Parts: sequence; structure tokens; C-alpha cells
Amino acid sequence: MNKVRTRFAPSPTGYLHIGGLRTALYAYLLAKQASGDFILRIEDTDQDRYVEGATEFIYRTLRLCGLDYDEGPDVGGDYGPYIQSERRSIYREYIDKLINLGEAYPCFCTKERLDELRAKAAESKTAYVYDRHCRHLSKEEAAEKMASGIPYVVRQKMPTTGQTTFDDAVYGQITVDNSVLEDGILLKSDGLPTYNFANVVDDHLMNITHVIRGSEYLSSTPKYNLLYQAFGWEIPTYVHVSQIMRSPGKKLSKRDGDASFSDFYNKGYLKEAILNYIALLGWSPGTDEEFFTLEELAERFSISGISKSDAIFDPAKLRWMNGEYIRKLSFAEFHEMAIPYYKQAIQREDVNLEVLSRMLHTRTEVLSDIPEQLDFVDTLPDYNVDLYVHKKMKSSVDTSREYLPQAWGVLGEIEPKDWNEEVIHEKLLGLANSLSVKNGQVLWPVRVALSGKPVSPGGAIELATLLGKEETLARIDFGMEKLSVAPASI
Ligand code: GLU
Repeated sequence: MNKVRTRFAPSPTGYLHIGGLRTALYAYLLAKQASGDFILRIEDTDQDRYVEGATEFIYRTLRLCGLDYDEGPDVGGDYGPYIQSERRSIYREYIDKLINLGEAYPCFCTKERLDELRAKAAESKTAYVYDRHCRHLSKEEAAEKMASGIPYVVRQKMPTTGQTTFDDAVYGQITVDNSVLEDGILLKSDGLPTYNFANVVDDHLMNITHVIRGSEYLSSTPKYNLLYQAFGWEIPTYVHVSQIMRSPGKKLSKRDGDASFSDFYNKGYLKEAILNYIALLGWSPGTDEEFFTLEELAERFSISGISKSDAIFDPAKLRWMNGEYIRKLSFAEFHEMAIPYYKQAIQREDVNLEVLSRMLHTRTEVLSDIPEQLDFVDTLPDYNVDLYVHKKMKSSVDTSREYLPQAWGVLGEIEPKDWNEEVIHEKLLGLANSLSVKNGQVLWPVRVALSGKPVSPGGAIELATLLGKEETLARIDFGMEKLSVAPASI
């Protein structure tokens, strides 16, 4: 059997849709599991869509994700060039062969003529189809026009009768009537091929054995099949993968935001979590397992696990999975990743960031959630005394008014050099014990006084450690003042 060779063939648009990354991932996995080659090919024949820097962006993103390609524009290989705009002469050679084989023809129809056909189709409410006007030119006529410099495109000469059948590894056998196939453009007047031609020539010349791409190409595949047949080339295994939807019937689209790899990565989602999640969007290992490294995926991946049905992208599930990946990080790894987010939220220099990481490591699902949780650190938000009321903790305004000053007292006894979690813990719990009250009756008011929020990323002891002695006492002072002017018992 031939060595497995797969390719990822993005157009350089400066944007890598989650669906595109999934295609790249599946192509990578299929190659790696068979010890084959994974190839990157840049499909830039649509010069109008050219975006500066987009190619480098693709290189960077694939490398960042660990989807290292064996051949590609910036790594070389035996089948280059790997950028389509540099393969112009190759397409020319093969288009001429196809014309000589009688399977394609030059078309000199002007834009005006085609616009007229389109307008007529619109008028009669039928779909526009090219009327094959130039298909009937004789070889000589066509050659003469070409030689005289009239601009032309080259169209595929479709059979008008019979059927075309092809096999797709996911969707099974598909048959279409040839009569529905249009004489589509293969080479544009600028001399560059359309996707419809280039994908076949390149996949053949690059010895691609498995073509993995989105199911939106399924309906065009009969045309590609006819091209392979016209050239007498071996047809690769087609592996079309389903669409990724935001909800049933609605595609996950760029317009809605949160549809590209970078949208998530830039928010502090871990690349491992993103890859793991998208691997499962449309592929199942056949068990309930959900966590896979790239290496494990390469071992387990199989075409038979790819689903035909559209996959629904579930942001909540990705978020959850990301949280699980964050918990699996070592403390040092998490701390290093979290620091930029701490810096976004905190200006003061005296907070202990390691304490923050100890608080947040197990409580963070997405790194970009961090700044919002820390909005109380620099400045205590104004809060209502109602916050001191907590049924479960048996805390009320009255109990807080009584115990908060006592907490201030025991914390004030701690030497600044001993200000750490252990000592603070001892002092506050010792106080509750000596007063014979519930721990919560001491801890809750301290937590409120230090954060000014109903929900904080840590409890009283952690917050006090984080803020330091001076700030802790100042905030408790402020809380005592608030409580002193509050009406009795609310
Ligand atoms: N350039 C095409 C795209 O970006 C590639 C499709 C394919 O993988 O063949 O959609």
C-alpha cells in the first residue's frame, strides 16, 4: 500500500475557523497514525482575497497546536512548490493536456454576455447555468481566438448523459446524474486555476492518498472525480467531514464571533483543550472517554469514528473541558500563565500573586475570567451591609457587628513577618472556638469586609493573606464603621 499522505489546504484569509482547524487535526491524525506524511498547501489562487501575513499566521497556528507538517512552503519537501500561486506553469501544462484530451475547452464569452444569461435566469426564476456556448467552437476556431489574445477561461466539458459515482469514506457511495453538472471554470482569465481544478492537480502531483475536507465540497466531488478519470489518475480516498454548527440549522460562523481558534486562544483557552474538544466534534472514540493528548488521538483516531451528522459546537462544554485542563497544569505552569491576567486586574505591588494562584488554580475555567474576579483587590467596592447576612453561616448584621472587631483584634496581634495562611487560620478559628460560635460567624464577616462582594475567589483566610496585614485591618475597620451605622438586625 502507498504511504499515507494527507494535506491541509487552507486559503490564507488571516483567520482559522474552528472547522478548518478540525480538518487540519483530522488530516494530521490520519497521517501520523499510519506513520505517513502531513502536508501543508497554501491555496491562494483567489488573489482578491489575499491578506498580508495570513500565510505566516497559518504556519504559526499549526506549530502552536503541535500540528507539525512534514512538507510545506516554509519547510520544503519533494513535491513543491506548496503555494498554489507559484504553481502557475504546472496548471497551464495540465489544462493544455485536458484541452487536448477533449475534456475541457476555452470559453471566450464576455462578462456582458454572461451577465445577460444571469439576468435572464433571474427573470425566469431559474438557476443560472452556463449555456455551453463556446463548447461547440471547432479546435481551429478556438486556437485562432487564443492566439489572437482574446481573454478566455477554460471550462470543464461535462458529460451530458450517464451518471458519476464516487465513494466517500464517511458518507458512503454517492451518485449524481451528469446532466446536473455545469461546465464549470477550471482556469480563470488571469491564468490561475479555480479550486475545482487546482485541488485535483495538486492532490495528484503531491501523491495525496486521503483528501480530508469539509462536507461543503461533497457536491462538487463528482466533477473532481471526472477530472481524475479524464487524466487516468488514481482517485484518492475522500473523507468529507460534517459541518460545525452553532445550533441546529445555523452554521458556526465568523460573523457571530467565537468561531476561530484565535478567538478562544486569545481569551486564555489552552490549545490542548481546544484541540481535544474539536477532535470530539464529529469524531468519537467509540467509548465514553473524553480526554486525549495529541499522541493519544493519533493512536485512537479512525475514519470509522467520524460522524456524518453535523456537530454542534457547545461553548459550555469547551469551557468545562478547559477548566479540567487548567486543573491538570502544575502549580508553576498555572502561575506563569495567570500572571498576565493578574497584571491586567491589579496595579498594587504588595499583593502576593502566589496566594492568588493557590486560590484560583482549581477555580478557573478560562484564564480571561480572572481579572473580573479580582476587581476588589485594588479598591474595595462599595457594598451594602446586607452582605453580612448569610443564613447558612448563621451570620447577621448583629453577629458581624460583634465579631468583626474581635477578628480585627486577633489579626492585629500577628507580627507582619508571620502574616501567612497558617497563622491567620489559627487566629480566626481560635477566635470562633473561644467565643463558642460557628466558624462561619467569624469568617463570613471578614470575607465580606475584605472583598465587598457576595462571591469572592477565596475565603477570609486566603483573602487576608493576599491583601497583607495593613490592608486587611483597614478594610475590616471600614466594615466595622459601616456596621456601626447600620440599623439593628436586618
Ligand atoms: N482551500 C480550501 C478551503 O480553504 C481547501 C479545501 C480542501 O481542503 O480541499 O476551503
